[in-house]
Amino acid sequence: MTNYIVSARKYRPQKFSEVVSQEFVTQTLKNAILSKKIGHSYLLSGPRGIGKTTIARIFAKALNCINSKEGEPCNVCEHCTEITIGTHPDIFELDAASNRGIDDVRAIQDAAKFFPLKAKYKFFIVDEVHMLTPQAFNAMLKILEEPPEYLIFILATTNPEKIPPTIISRCQRFALHRININEIIGKLKEVAKAEKIKIDGESLFRIAKLGDGALRDALGIFDLAVSYCGNVIKTDELNQFLNLPDKEMYFDISGFIYSGDSSLLIKYYAGLQDKGIDMQNFFAGIIEHFRNLLVVKTTSSPDLLDESDITKKRYVEESSKFSQEQILRILKLLFDNEAKVKYSANQLILFESLLVELCRINKDIVDISVLISELEDIKKKNLN
Ligand SMILES: [Zn+2]
Repeated sequence: MTNYIVSARKYRPQKFSEVVSQEFVTQTLKNAILSKKIGHSYLLSGPRGIGKTTIARIFAKALNCINSKEGEPCNVCEHCTEITIGTHPDIFELDAASNRGIDDVRAIQDAAKFFPLKAKYKFFIVDEVHMLTPQAFNAMLKILEEPPEYLIFILATTNPEKIPPTIISRCQRFALHRININEIIGKLKEVAKAEKIKIDGESLFRIAKLGDGALRDALGIFDLAVSYCGNVIKTDELNQFLNLPDKEMYFDISGFIYSGDSSLLIKYYAGLQDKGIDMQNFFAGIIEHFRNLLVVKTTSSPDLLDESDITKKRYVEESSKFSQEQILRILKLLFDNEAKVKYSANQLILFESLLVELCRINKDIVDISVLISELEDIKKKNLN
C-alpha cells in the first residue's frame, strides 16, 4: 500500500518564503524574529484555507530552531522536524471549533503554568479562536495580562469580530487576504510538475477559480481531479467530473438575449434541463456572465475578470454587442428575480418567464431608441 498524502499537506509551506502571498505577514514575523522583538500574542484573521495555521507553525519553528537563518527555520533540527510532524511537546494546537468547554480552559491554563520541556518558546496555537467559550477567553485574558516570558499565543480566526475586544487589544493583529487566482495557478502548476501530472491551462484555471481564494481548497479539488482523470487532466473531462457548466453556454444565452429570440432561448434551456443542469447554479452563472460583460464594458478592458485569456477575449467581443444601459437593465431584472425564483413554488414557470422577459428587454430598448430618433426627427421638422 502506498502512503497517499493529500497535496495540501504534502506541499504545505515549511518556510516563510514558501508561503503563497501574505508577504506582509511573513515579512513582519521574520523581522520580529531578527530584531528579537517577539510579542506574546498574535491574531491571524482571514478566510479559510489561506495559510493561517501554516504561518503559525513556521513561526513556531523559526523561533525554536537551533540553526535558524535570516528568520527562517532550518527544517532539519530536532525542533523543526518535530513541529512539522506535530509531535513537539511544547507546541500545542487547539481547534476551538471542535474543543469547547472545560477542556479548553484547562489546556490554556496548563500552557501557562509550566516551563517549556525543551524548546525556548512554548506555543499555543488556537484555530477558529472565536469559538472558545467565554470561560476560556477569561482564562486566556488572565494569562495575557501577565504572560510568562516563554509563552506565545497564536490565534487564528475566520471571524475576528466575534473575539472579545479585551483579547484583541492585547494581540498583534494581521489580516490575511484571499490568494489571487494567478498565485493559486502558479502553486497548482508547481504541484502538477512535482507529481508529474499533465494539465492544460484551462483546467488549471478552473480548479484555481473553484478554490475561491483558498489554496487549500484548490489543492483539494486538484487531488480529486487527479483521482478521477489520472495523470492527464483535460478540460472536457474535468468539466464532466466537476459537473461544471460549460462557459460557452452563457455566451449562447447572451446571444439569444441579444437577438431577442425567446423561443430559441426557452428551447435551449429545456435542453439544458434534460442534461440535468441545476437552476440555481445556472442563475448564478448568468448573473456572473453579465457582471463580466458590465466590467468589460465599463472599464473597456477584460483585465479585472477572473477568467482565462481565451475567455477574456470572448468577453471583449460579446460586450461590444450590448450598451452599458442594456447590461444594467438585464442585471437589474436578474437581481430583482433572484430571490423570487429561489423561493417560488413554481420555479420553472417563473424562470422561463424571466428568460422571455430578458429577450424582450432589448427590444424595448431598441424601441425606445427608435422612438427617440423619431422624436428628434419630428423636432427637427418642427424647427425647420
Ligand atoms: Zn531547525
